[in-house]
Amino acid sequence: MSSAPRLVRCPRCQGDAVFAPSNRWRPFCSERCHTGDFAAWANEEFRVPVQPSADELQDDGSPPPPVH
Ligand SMILES: [Zn+2]
Repeated sequence: MSSAPRLVRCPRCQGDAVFAPSNRWRPFCSERCHTGDFAAWANEEFRVPVQPSADELQDDGSPPPPVH
């Protein structure tokens, strides 16, 4: 009874990845590919533009002075 490991293409490096419980990073080939892909996804997903809203700007476009 042969149970050849099922290979899939790693979405990260396009290499062969073992799609089996022995590969905890499936469908990626390795932790490196898995983590790298997730980081890229997270950065893209949670990126927030760092710009003050219009309400916080003075007429000349500068931020309001600090109030003590
Ligand atoms: Zn890979």
